[in-house]
Amino acid sequence: MSFKPANNIQDLQYFGEFGGVNPSISDSSTYTFLSAKTMFDTFEGNAEGCYLYSRHSSPSNLYLGEALAAMEGTETANVSASGMGAITPVLLQLCQAGDHIVSSRTIYGGTYAFLKNFIPRMQIETSFVDITKLEIVEAAITKNTKVLYCESVSNPLLEVADIKGLAAIAKKYHLKLVVDNTFSPLSISPAILGADVVIHSLTKFINGSSDTVGGVVCGTQEFINDLRNVNNGASMLLGSTMDSLRAASVLKNLRTLHIRMKQHSKNGLYLAQKFESDGLKTVYPGLKSHPSHKLYKSMMHPDYGFGGMLTIDVGSLDKANELMELMQNKNLGYLAVSLGFYKTLFSAPGTSTSSEIPEEEQKEMGLSNGLIRFSIGLDDDIERTYQMMRQCMTQLHIL
Ligand SMILES: *Cc1c(COP(=O)(O)O)cnc(C)c1O
Repeated sequence: MSFKPANNIQDLQYFGEFGGVNPSISDSSTYTFLSAKTMFDTFEGNAEGCYLYSRHSSPSNLYLGEALAAMEGTETANVSASGMGAITPVLLQLCQAGDHIVSSRTIYGGTYAFLKNFIPRMQIETSFVDITKLEIVEAAITKNTKVLYCESVSNPLLEVADIKGLAAIAKKYHLKLVVDNTFSPLSISPAILGADVVIHSLTKFINGSSDTVGGVVCGTQEFINDLRNVNNGASMLLGSTMDSLRAASVLKNLRTLHIRMKQHSKNGLYLAQKFESDGLKTVYPGLKSHPSHKLYKSMMHPDYGFGGMLTIDVGSLDKANELMELMQNKNLGYLAVSLGFYKTLFSAPGTSTSSEIPEEEQKEMGLSNGLIRFSIGLDDDIERTYQMMRQCMTQLHIL
């Protein structure tokens, strides 16, 4: 594949106001105009390069957005105060009362809760389907469907979406394919495979330092303009804007994403292979045993690997909790939700990040109580980490 996401980020050159190697941070909520006419045109959306008010856009947010659009191969992007602050305006912009969404049933807990509990009050209904079965996806489409929604690699079950196949269905029925690519930045480029809108929670791998929440919507100039429209744009009107100081800091962290992703993936693959050969039920898209291993391989930029997320099943919630507490005591990682940190993070999704999903539905989708989700860190000596994790598992009679 000739599309090189990390090159695209690095090829952008911005200097600071005084020749700084980092762009200047815009420290203003509002902007002056030399003429009243320009202010009017900016309100109307007709003054290229002019800033109006920082909830609409700011130089620092535009720099970060431009870099993320370059990474995803879209025309432009809009950054937001959190991942949910990117997801919810997109869905509200694309759907009106009476519309319908077809969504993967294995998605981030907050997105699931929004679709299931929140937007039905706007008369927007969602069918949750097994996204890996294209015929089931197609069968769920009604005359009111407007959006196909999925995650490239799903949370927490690590199901892989066939983005090309879904894009073909979206095209056939004139739907927008919206893909949350939070788990697989650089590795998968959904827009290149046919997605209309690509979303990230910047909170995770992209920022990578677990010091802020943030999000981005990558798409066409027309769609991003719609989101920012002062009269009817969901991002503008709901106001989930990122602060400029934070945008500058996320941009600096984005500079090392390619190096970090390689290390997360290398460590993830190493541990997944070891856990599997120890006889643990292990899910990792880089394992041949993963049902979508070949599909992932066919979509990925191989340099960045299969990512840092893996799950194991240790049989029961009690065992999972004991193991996580012991691993934390041995400083192998932290018992925390979220992902993409330098340190390994682990949690039991059934009782934490996916607790919004009713128990019955969790069972149906294969989300068992003994499941532990790992976000594998940047450990320099992953073999030592493995040996120590193995000791913990032996001590608790998991192995
Ligand atoms: C964390 C996460 C979100 C939500 O992002 P926030 O920054 O916490 O609002 C959405 N999708 C996925 C896949 C996530 O992991």
